[in-house]
Amino acid sequence: MKIYMDTYGCSANQAASEIMLGLLSNKFQIISKKDEADVIIINSCIVKSPTEAKILFQIKKIVQEYPHKKLIVAGCMPEVYSMKIRKTAPNASMIGIHHLSEIENVVDDTLRGKQRIEIGHNSSPKLGYPRIRIDDRIGIVQIAQGCISNCTYCIVKRVMGPLVSYPEELILDEVKRCVLQGCKEIWLTAQDTTAYGLDRGSTLPSLLQSIMQIDGNFMVRVGMMNPATAYPLVDDLIEVFKHSKLYKFIHLPLQSGSNAILRQMKRNYTVEQYFEIIKKFRTVFQDITLSTDVIVGFPTETEAQFNESLNVITLLQPSLTNISKFGPREKTPAAKLPPLSSQTIKDRSRKMTVLCQKITREKNNEWIGREETILIVSRGKKGGLEGRTYTYKPVIIDTRNHELIGKFVNVSIVDAKYSHLLGTLTEEFIR
Ligand code: SF4
Repeated sequence: MKIYMDTYGCSANQAASEIMLGLLSNKFQIISKKDEADVIIINSCIVKSPTEAKILFQIKKIVQEYPHKKLIVAGCMPEVYSMKIRKTAPNASMIGIHHLSEIENVVDDTLRGKQRIEIGHNSSPKLGYPRIRIDDRIGIVQIAQGCISNCTYCIVKRVMGPLVSYPEELILDEVKRCVLQGCKEIWLTAQDTTAYGLDRGSTLPSLLQSIMQIDGNFMVRVGMMNPATAYPLVDDLIEVFKHSKLYKFIHLPLQSGSNAILRQMKRNYTVEQYFEIIKKFRTVFQDITLSTDVIVGFPTETEAQFNESLNVITLLQPSLTNISKFGPREKTPAAKLPPLSSQTIKDRSRKMTVLCQKITREKNNEWIGREETILIVSRGKKGGLEGRTYTYKPVIIDTRNHELIGKFVNVSIVDAKYSHLLGTLTEEFIR
């Protein structure tokens, strides 16, 4: 029997797909063409309303175009929107993000014509499973699920629930397995990585110190942090970030430049505290890559408060900014607030995009003329090879020597584009 899977959403959801495919690959053939599949699995995401709409549209299309194929909806959507899925695909089976180990049984029953619904919260670690990796050189390691916050706009909390940090030994085993299997990049992921260990007397810096002791030629990218949990840890974080195996890259969502809006979002930090974290990191790592997130059009956001966000972003100069237009998520406190007009939200999103794209280009241009050692991680999407600087900046080099994949090489940065740098090889096989 042939299985096809579509994956949406964050690194944790990509890891969930890798695990489900790993578990299924003993018994089923994993294929990349939907038309030829006996079972289609949609691994869904519901973080934003446009993504939810896109997935429901996909589900409807599959039911119409492939009435005889078996459909399974996996991921976060079944955990909060099982009724919407039933309405769109009455015969589809469902397997929630917390039930990955059940995937083989769900596929078996579904193929036998028995609808299976496996949903509901549980906290068993998503570690130690066989994997079919989306990219063989990248090991995605989930370190925790859930968080200690209750951001008023967030639907993820309804799926992931309270913080559950996974045992350190299981995480270390997973990283070692990734390195043994040839992964060159380890992505540590969680809803809030800096909340790690708060529920088990540990911390992210201490976990990172342990990971740094693992032998091997690999780099580690730390996933999204919440400034509220990062603030008390910043000095210890900076200490461990000095390690050469850690990309000098932080993903720290700001969400708003207005303290009043941050209070209404229940983000539990101030703009001043955010600046303090970034200032401390940049004092030690001048080139560190700051990736941030901003929500524009939060229901109570005034023009003046939006301008505060523009000003703060201008001062922060983040290399990357993910801009979200506020969209009410069901059963979240912010969904009860009267929304701004869609035109206002659109205008603010456009203004923020123009500003952030200008900053990203300027930040990338600063790298032109530099000599760098980069890790080649994969083939470039449009030819060449793609590497990463020690600050996790993507660099495309024009070579067809695929033996360099997984190697550290020296390059000269000759140009910069919005999404990446361009480099020429100066020395191969550094290590
Ligand atoms: S930290 Fe906030 S935004 Fe992130 S998952 Fe938790 S409640 Fe949602």
